[in-house]
Amino acid sequence: MHLISGLFISLLVGGTRASWLDFGIPHSNATVDVRVFNVGNASLAKEAHTIYSPILPGHEDALFPMYSFLVEHNNSGKRLMFDLGMRKDPLNLAPSVAIFASSGVLQLEEPKDITELLQGGGISLSSIDAVIWSHAHFDHIGDMSKFPNTTELIIGAETDTAIYPNSPNATLQASDLAGRKVTKIDFSAANLTFSDLKAIDYFGDGSFYLLNTPGHLPGHMTALARVTPTSFIALGGDTFHHVGEARPRPQFQQNFPCPADLLEEAKTSISTDYFWSPRSTEGAFDMPSRAQQLLAISDLPDSFYADPVTSQVSLEKLATFDADPDILVLIAHDISLRSSMPYYPAYLNDWKGNNFKERTVWSFVEKTNPASVFTPITNRTG
Ligand SMILES: [Zn+2]
Repeated sequence: MHLISGLFISLLVGGTRASWLDFGIPHSNATVDVRVFNVGNASLAKEAHTIYSPILPGHEDALFPMYSFLVEHNNSGKRLMFDLGMRKDPLNLAPSVAIFASSGVLQLEEPKDITELLQGGGISLSSIDAVIWSHAHFDHIGDMSKFPNTTELIIGAETDTAIYPNSPNATLQASDLAGRKVTKIDFSAANLTFSDLKAIDYFGDGSFYLLNTPGHLPGHMTALARVTPTSFIALGGDTFHHVGEARPRPQFQQNFPCPADLLEEAKTSISTDYFWSPRSTEGAFDMPSRAQQLLAISDLPDSFYADPVTSQVSLEKLATFDADPDILVLIAHDISLRSSMPYYPAYLNDWKGNNFKERTVWSFVEKTNPASVFTPITNRTG
């Protein structure tokens, strides 16, 4: 009796999660294979404030890769895409979003369509059974007209499917939806809950779940892919855009202690004029005593988050996965991983065996990493 309660207390006090089972994820031996493409690198001039805060001098532009995931179900051979990135000809988006490109605010580096990347990698488009949009923003929907009409489209039930020109301000157009089966995922029917996130078992065998993560846009959803019987990849869409919106937190710091060299680097790569923690001193940021994530979701009137408060709630839930040693969280635009991500044709399944998470979770505080936005940029040539 005492032993049992002692164990229970030590779990609570120590705060270490025993396993993914504590989230309510059922056992299964069914898995999916996951591979990732970067469809392109985009920049939105002077728009970083629409994503997070604070914005330090010299970091006003939003820079982001656009990841698209190929998910293959091992039991059936079915293939899914989770998000498609942006089409390579953004001037042909619906006018309300094409304006980002025509005004010069949006710049694309080496734009490609995901369909070209798939075919170039030997994946025929007719083998893609379904495309899942985390949400219907232009940088996730690709160009559906290039997929055969046998490819189903899966969207969150609350997704706004208004079409330009019937609705002049619509961000979608007929070619995004026409000529194919469109299935809406309704989480009110979900009977699973993981870390307070409603979940739907997509294949019915525990290999791939869709998760309800509203806030960024109505109908926004994410996915949890079981890549081995005991390890997972959470495909986080735009629940957050920069890992500094989720890290660090106490549980994360406990399970993923910052390596000594990066602790030292963080003393000066994070400006104490803008960020603080209990053991920081002026000019020397102390990471281990920081209990709160570094960046906050933008709640400005022009925020890219349709509902910042609900977005924060979804972020908090997904952040519990981010702190877990058995779950790798990959958001759609994580620029901290741009140069370290094992891209297609590599498989992401063995991320745990490769220590990928341990090796990369703190990259965002490295001075040379493009995610390092925590010190002002002064005149470097001066
Ligand atoms: Zn996005």
